[in-house]
Amino acid sequence: MTVRTRFAPSPTGYLHIGGVRTALFNWLFARKHGGQFILRIDDTDQQRNVAEALAPILSGFRWLGIDWDEGAEVGGPHGPYYQSQKSARYQDAVRQLIDKGLAYHDFATPEELKAERESAEKEKRSYLYSRKWLAETPADRARFEAEGRKSTVRLKMPRAGTCRFHDHIRGDMAIDWVSEQDHVIQRADGSCLYNLANVVDDFDMKITHVIRAEEHLSNTARQIFIAQGLGYPLPEYAHVPFVAEPGSKNKLSKRKIAQYLKNQDFKKIYEHGQNIAAVLGLTTSADTFNPVIVDFFEQVGYLPHAIVNYLLLLGWSLDDKTEFFTREEMIKSFSLERVNKAPASYDPSKLWAFQDHHMRALPLADKVERCLPFMHKAGHAADAAKVELIIRAAGDRIKVAGDILDYADFFAPDHALKYDEKAFDKRLRKAPESVRLLTAYKDRLAGIEPFDAAKLEKSVQDFVAAEGTKLEQIIHALRVAVTGKAVGFGLYEALAIVGKQGCVKRIEVALAKIGN
Ligand code: GLU
Repeated sequence: MTVRTRFAPSPTGYLHIGGVRTALFNWLFARKHGGQFILRIDDTDQQRNVAEALAPILSGFRWLGIDWDEGAEVGGPHGPYYQSQKSARYQDAVRQLIDKGLAYHDFATPEELKAERESAEKEKRSYLYSRKWLAETPADRARFEAEGRKSTVRLKMPRAGTCRFHDHIRGDMAIDWVSEQDHVIQRADGSCLYNLANVVDDFDMKITHVIRAEEHLSNTARQIFIAQGLGYPLPEYAHVPFVAEPGSKNKLSKRKIAQYLKNQDFKKIYEHGQNIAAVLGLTTSADTFNPVIVDFFEQVGYLPHAIVNYLLLLGWSLDDKTEFFTREEMIKSFSLERVNKAPASYDPSKLWAFQDHHMRALPLADKVERCLPFMHKAGHAADAAKVELIIRAAGDRIKVAGDILDYADFFAPDHALKYDEKAFDKRLRKAPESVRLLTAYKDRLAGIEPFDAAKLEKSVQDFVAAEGTKLEQIIHALRVAVTGKAVGFGLYEALAIVGKQGCVKRIEVALAKIGN
């Protein structure tokens, strides 16, 4: 038997990290067992702009390196992979259930159903549909239709006995059939509902393991009823606990960002990302650009592997101590049995730590490859060689690729550097002695060969000694004049990156700005 797993998103326009975590477990399980992972789409006939709403989901998975063997865009032998294209197939399955007496046309009006529910509530008994408007024969149907009624199709659920199944995470499950309702599987307009469509899809796509969010645990008994009714083999089940919000056991929701921003770690990640987005000129509202949505991490320049590694440990562990995994190690180690039963809280500081770890470990050339496009996206004509020098000098100050934008001034035209005005005032405008030294030192630059950090450091020290002054008298002025900023990585590295001509020009521009 080949293992086949699936993830079945609805096209919502964004990819939630909780969904990624579920998809990741499916992907890892399939890869571990040499099987296939299928990405099928739970859209509906009525949905507009499916392609548009799907795009961020597909690109999110591609960015994360979670590839699929069959499904959306790639196709495959068990399609269609879009529910909207399978109406006839679902209706056929509904007919089979009706023919077997396992489903029926129901002609009750919403008002009649409501009245039944209310009287059950009043009498404090659990609600069970009376089946008063059930039509199992053509004659019954004709009679109700003559009254102008419309029918849905409901499952005729057993009202005695127990549904038993094994769940890889939850263990042995037992659900009394009577606790299930006669669920609607087909609406009056002929469209079919999730429970039915899902079972048919899993069968058509030969899914062997259904690994999904725990909110679907309550759908499992009715899905088993449908599958058995249609004579389908049952898949194995694993219901994964949801990802909880920071510091609580409630489900993480993209609608509660305002609340999460009260969490300092969440806020830190959020604001850091928003700042990078602002430099890139992205329009980003808190609803659509936040650390619950995968696109946020991509746009800001996180490492996809860091996100995947973090999400792996959000609800799964190998041994309570191993934190960092390569792709291969993840695939090798993953097992459903080690998925926790309890929900794990999304911990932004931990995610940040994973990013930090993987970024530090990333070879320089790969860092350059990730950072360079950010410079280009921000409109700077940056080249790889200079970006490499910046990354070397900045070291672990670059936590995400977008942090390279802090150093965009290295690519500013020398005559149009933007200054931190407060620093400019303090270190230049109101520091005449520093300005005098800077003016004198400028003429020494021409003789420095090669123009590297070591030679620059030596020349500044020699200059200070000759002038009988202190290093502080010149280095701050020099930094502000050449980089525009009060702080940054090593001054001499910065001067070397700007280059001889650039340094001379920038100092001249700064001096001119003061009026010297
Ligand atoms: N579209 C459903 C969801 O996202 C899929 C449920 C399932 O995996 O069975 O919740």
